[in-house]
Amino acid sequence: MEQINNESEPRYWEKMRLVADVLRNSDAPVVIIAHEDPDGDAVGSTLGLARALRQLGREVWWVVDPPRFLRFLAREGEIHEPVDELPDDAILVVLDSGDRHRAVGAPVTGFVINIDHHGSNSRFGQIHIVDPAKAAAAQMVKDLIDSLEVEWTEDIATPVLTGLITDTGNFRFGNTTPEVLETAAELVGHGVNLAELTDRLQWRPPQYFKLMGMVLSTVQFHFGGLAVTAHVTREMSEEAGSGEEDSDDFVGVIRYAEGSYVAAFLKEREGATKVSIRSRPGVSAQNIAVELGGGGHVPAAGATLEGLTIEEAYPVVLAAIEKELQRAGLLG
Ligand code: AMP
Ligand code: MN
Ligand code: MN
Repeated sequence: MEQINNESEPRYWEKMRLVADVLRNSDAPVVIIAHEDPDGDAVGSTLGLARALRQLGREVWWVVDPPRFLRFLAREGEIHEPVDELPDDAILVVLDSGDRHRAVGAPVTGFVINIDHHGSNSRFGQIHIVDPAKAAAAQMVKDLIDSLEVEWTEDIATPVLTGLITDTGNFRFGNTTPEVLETAAELVGHGVNLAELTDRLQWRPPQYFKLMGMVLSTVQFHFGGLAVTAHVTREMSEEAGSGEEDSDDFVGVIRYAEGSYVAAFLKEREGATKVSIRSRPGVSAQNIAVELGGGGHVPAAGATLEGLTIEEAYPVVLAAIEKELQRAGLLG
């Protein structure tokens, strides 16, 4: 895979100021979108920027459909419907997406600003700020909002902090740098109630827990326990009465299997199987995902296996995991 260097410090801030100038000095609507299946960073970074720009009096279309557990972040009427065609002269801001094809909500055409932290970013923006050293797109949006010189409010800080919390696994993953904690402290200083926010982010409906019981019965260990897998089928979701998005954080549960280096969670989709992969240091979830035609970050990545049922996807996923465990020197 192509190695994309992190932005150098001065260049990073120079580009932030450039983006801030573009966003401040144009009268055209700003359309803000993120990747499909938006997570806390996708929702939080885009909503934070949308609110900051509105505070500057800009017309903003926030075209993101948050999953249920994140919907509390948005206010009534704040969500814009997906658009087939961009308004004239619109500036399209694509956050937390490393690939134009993963971005949803509006066609990725015209003048595109892409701010992202995926190592696999294809650099599709007319202006792009790509920094895989950043823990979250929300961290970069925090820097952009500072560059815009918008006055921070709890309303702006809450979604931005959400992006930091979710992409660092509640400040537990390896990407939890001093910068992340300093930024979080600053955002809490702007009035966010951290205890309330982290609690709210963990709320799940009753059917989630029913589904979890079924999912846990699919847990399997492979390669002497170096890898752990589980899955959810549509039938299981239906039986539990839950929606597709209820299964989104099960990979975060099984990844704590003692002795495992890789966790893979398979989800049945229409004509496809979606795989979420997590790994411990020394092993790259990203390598496994790339092998499967997907992408992401070293510790957390994913892929969609088109045309494969869960049953058919298992051997393909396990072969990719085996290859990576061998590369890491954990398997002969
Ligand atoms: P998930 O599988 O949704 O838990 O995603 C984990 C990480 O991998 C996130 O940063 C996603 O943006 C990224 N990711 C998931 N699926 C893909 C894919 N098909 N292509 C590129 N990146 C992906
Ligand atoms: Mn994301
Ligand atoms: Mn992210």
